[in-house]
Amino acid sequence: MFDKILIANRGEIACRISKTAHRLGIDTVAVYSDADRDALHVQHADESVHIGGAQTQESYLDIDAILEATEATGAEAIHPGYGFLSENPAFASACEEAGIPFVGPSSEVIEVMGTKDQAKQVMEEAGVPVVPGYNGAQQDPDVLQEQANTIGYPLLIKPVAGGGGVGMRLVKDEESFQDQLEASRREADSAFGNDDVLLEKYLEKPRHIEVQVFGDDHGNAVHVFERDCSLQRRYQKVVEEAPAPGVPESFRQEIGEAAVQAVEELDYTNAGTIEFIVDVADGIEEAPFYFMEMNTRLQVEHPVTEMITGQDLVEWQLRVAAGEELPARQEELTFDGHAFEARLYAENPAKDFLPQTGKIQRFLYPDKQDNVRVDTGVRDGDEMSIHYDPMIAKFIVRGGNRRQALRKMHQVLLGSGIVGLTTNLEFHVNVFEHEEFQKGNVETNFISNHRHQLIPEDYGQPSREDVMMATTYFLSGQAEDDVFRNDMVHDPWNVSDNWRMNTVMTKNLKLLSGEQELAVSGTCEEHLYEIEYEDTSETVEFQSFEDGVLRVRVDGTELQSRVVLRGTKRDISLLYRGRSIPFHLYDPGVEEGEGVGEGDVRASMPGKVLKIRVEEGDEVEKNAPILVMEAMKMEMTVSAGRAGTVEELPFSEGDQVKEGDLLVSISS
Ligand code: ADP
Ligand code: ADP
Ligand code: MG
Repeated sequence: MFDKILIANRGEIACRISKTAHRLGIDTVAVYSDADRDALHVQHADESVHIGGAQTQESYLDIDAILEATEATGAEAIHPGYGFLSENPAFASACEEAGIPFVGPSSEVIEVMGTKDQAKQVMEEAGVPVVPGYNGAQQDPDVLQEQANTIGYPLLIKPVAGGGGVGMRLVKDEESFQDQLEASRREADSAFGNDDVLLEKYLEKPRHIEVQVFGDDHGNAVHVFERDCSLQRRYQKVVEEAPAPGVPESFRQEIGEAAVQAVEELDYTNAGTIEFIVDVADGIEEAPFYFMEMNTRLQVEHPVTEMITGQDLVEWQLRVAAGEELPARQEELTFDGHAFEARLYAENPAKDFLPQTGKIQRFLYPDKQDNVRVDTGVRDGDEMSIHYDPMIAKFIVRGGNRRQALRKMHQVLLGSGIVGLTTNLEFHVNVFEHEEFQKGNVETNFISNHRHQLIPEDYGQPSREDVMMATTYFLSGQAEDDVFRNDMVHDPWNVSDNWRMNTVMTKNLKLLSGEQELAVSGTCEEHLYEIEYEDTSETVEFQSFEDGVLRVRVDGTELQSRVVLRGTKRDISLLYRGRSIPFHLYDPGVEEGEGVGEGDVRASMPGKVLKIRVEEGDEVEKNAPILVMEAMKMEMTVSAGRAGTVEELPFSEGDQVKEGDLLVSISS
């Protein structure tokens, strides 16, 4: 076995590989870009080497820089993780030439499996069923049109060099074929530098079921069961599980054997995944399955397989790369229970899952517990930057059966929260609460079919319950210097607004949540708050606020929410059911009127400054336009929160701003 390896990757997967290496007594070398000097993966390694700029071409994709780092540190092998150079045949072959073991298959196999047309051809020859379609060399638009007409519609156009769903286009009829072909080619050319495509019959009700496979240099080949990755958006996975739900044992065996057959045909070594598409239009029992593609690396979702089999697939990879035999034979491999993975992304489901950038102010998730695993490469204060994949973490759970695993994941999701940027956490809560998902009725159109339930209108916005909890939080005086409690307890006569000196007192509050202003009023009697919001009122019983957790009772139901303070006592984020809702409590004495109000205006989302209307030193009125920003493909005007002098105006026209950046500071 090796004494030292280099990990040519970043983020959670670099951390995860380090963990296994350390358990096996292997030292690790991290590589990092300018943007990753203080990254977690660097801290987790025994040594680290700076390899270049933040852009991936200048660092994580720079083959020479990585080989130099390997030589300089005396690392004996390179683990490429996933993404980046993991499926780059030129890199694998450069490692082979330099005599450094590459933790993966041979460069020839990567090359063959790297293009979908070749891969399909090889599989077809090996007798593995492939999706009907055209994967020939002819790329003339007229020839493709003819082929398309023969296959019939709907069909899919796929870049042969594709990955991550990029460039895939659904064509519904003959008339739109040429337009979609052009679009697919453009995207493929800019993403992969290769605009060749293949055509495939589009299955209308498919499941994505893939098989984990392994081979070694001694002629052994096994499969480590299947995973269902049908929950996808933009042809990309978000939730995975193992084993595939509702699959009969005969199907499991058959698909596993087909995968092993492929491994043997290829003389494949190390970890790989054979992705199949399964046509479940007539149910799963006798469903036909077709080879779709092979990923010649460790997969993002490999932990669900580890959870049910008890195997460490990175250990397997390292042993195979060191020339050992596979740690287990097919008949020794078994699985127990059920596992799920939920990928937490910095993205906004309500904006078509648009990736988000910004600082992770707080990332809370449950402490270590049995059958729960959180793989992440970030910690509080880290930045999700435009340069890299927006995945924040993977939540992985195991249960004795699917039901128990569902429940466990639900608990983990509810116990987690992110402050600082929009994520898909709330979306995951909705997935795991969805009845059809709970029943195991998954297919690749699941998310689009149930879009309205998974991504309700008010996604990420304060719900009524959130407002009730935030109001109770402020009214009950949880912030130490809270005016209300002090006033209430000590001197109700002293306040400036409409207290009524009855047994019951009413207080009007103004809350700001993002751009939204919320007017609430509450009366208080002991621990009972009668809160009026949007013309209806509700009785909320304050129960406790301990260790940052607020407990209240509404209509006999106990609600629990985590409260995170952001800077001042009047600024909180409420973490509840996957949502992370900021609330700011206006201080009526200070913040209202012309000369008062927010002097500092910050960007509520990332965007670009288009126009600036004022200069530093200008006198402005309250609500005067300051600058025009473009964010989420919309233009919006940022105006003065108060009257006064423009003190700071840190950006210029054309600059990119991040969420939370100071746009203007106005003093009175
Ligand atoms: P899987 O998610 O099943 O492992 P994918 O091929 O979808 O397989 O992606 C694997 C990883 O490769 C992703 O998590 C990401 O890190 C990287 N990746 C894939 N496609 C892209 C892309 N278009 N841009 C950047 N990274 C990508
Ligand atoms: P990538 O390399 O981008 O991962 P894949 O060929 O693996 O591309 O396809 C990605 C996803 O697209 C699949 O998981 C599946 O949901 C969908 N898909 C692919 N081929 C078909 C098809 N023929 N019919 C319907 N859906 C498909
Ligand atoms: Mg794929």
